[in-house]
Amino acid sequence: MEKNLRELFCEAEAAKEEMMETWKFLVNRDCGSGNKAGVDQVGRDIKAVLEPLGFKVRFHEYEKVGNMLVAEYGDMSKPFIVLTGHMDTVFADGTAAKRPFTVVNGRVTGPGCLDMKGGVTILLYAVKFLTGAGYDRYPLKIILAGDEEVGHNQSNAGNDYLAEAKGAVMGFNLETGFMDNGIVVERKGCCRFEWDFQGVGAHAGNNPEDGRSAVQEMCHKAIDMEGLTDFEEGTTVNVGVISGGTVANAVPEHAHCIVDVRFRSEKGLNRIIDSFKKIASRQYIPDTKTTCRLTTRIEAMERLDSSLELFNRANDIAVKNGLPEMKAIAVGGGSDSAYLTKAGIPTLCALGVRGQFNHTEREWAVEDSLIEREKLLLALLMKL
Ligand SMILES: [Zn+2]
Repeated sequence: MEKNLRELFCEAEAAKEEMMETWKFLVNRDCGSGNKAGVDQVGRDIKAVLEPLGFKVRFHEYEKVGNMLVAEYGDMSKPFIVLTGHMDTVFADGTAAKRPFTVVNGRVTGPGCLDMKGGVTILLYAVKFLTGAGYDRYPLKIILAGDEEVGHNQSNAGNDYLAEAKGAVMGFNLETGFMDNGIVVERKGCCRFEWDFQGVGAHAGNNPEDGRSAVQEMCHKAIDMEGLTDFEEGTTVNVGVISGGTVANAVPEHAHCIVDVRFRSEKGLNRIIDSFKKIASRQYIPDTKTTCRLTTRIEAMERLDSSLELFNRANDIAVKNGLPEMKAIAVGGGSDSAYLTKAGIPTLCALGVRGQFNHTEREWAVEDSLIEREKLLLALLMKL
């Protein structure tokens, strides 16, 4: 290694203007998860940046959503580091033209400026500076998903992610950074279940005894479901939406509910799935029928002891090198770091630019956090 960390810090400071231009370039384009062409174009642009640095770049191609970019540097048969994030945003086509990349009083706005074009910029420049300095401490693998914001529901990206992550010694996700310098070591997973209850309709006045109320069946089962919440385990069940019946003077033939389940561990989720099966097969009201189906599943980033150890080492390195002290946090929202921890890889998430209000029009990022977080990533890659 020819350059030391101080020299790389200076290089990052000197490149600020160029980095701001890249950040702007990435924000000023429509690449919502629904815009496959837009996301794929971002992938090609990033490929064009990485190849001249010596990365081998390939894509996992999907029919309906943005492709996943995978770029490798060094001898991948050795333990490697994963640098990761996503290229898609939650914003509709036309947003980039309507409210483009803007900097006012140190605040950056524009679609995906925080989530997570700033992080992608940091990632690209870190590997640029490091490869330029002859970095050879670890092989590097960059994984950038094209459909993170829709939870890989219409692609095989989740499985591809797991397969690509195998063999990594640690992972860094350049996701949305937190204002208070929290670094995420745990994220809850989220599942959604839709329940249908079929009863037997009857006139409420003439022959109620012939009726079998789907609403009553649902009410019993909604209470059973919520009873499964275990705050200590970190598993919660919320029957968030209910509907049923058509008129007040009929025994309701149908009922329906939508249930949100949050979980800290796969073990917790599996407990709920097993219990839901039992609840579905149970009958409070004779002749009723219940069906339950899982419609959405976002994996949990499980808290690994090795992630906490990695955090402690990372924090020491940050402080020793004049960067702000960090704190390890657990949050509710998901990210692709879940696939890294699922593969048992110690992972730090939310290393991107700091800011607030992602997924909304109020989204903004701290301009100065671009260089601050660039230095942090450089320090981690040079010292861990
Ligand atoms: Zn994100």
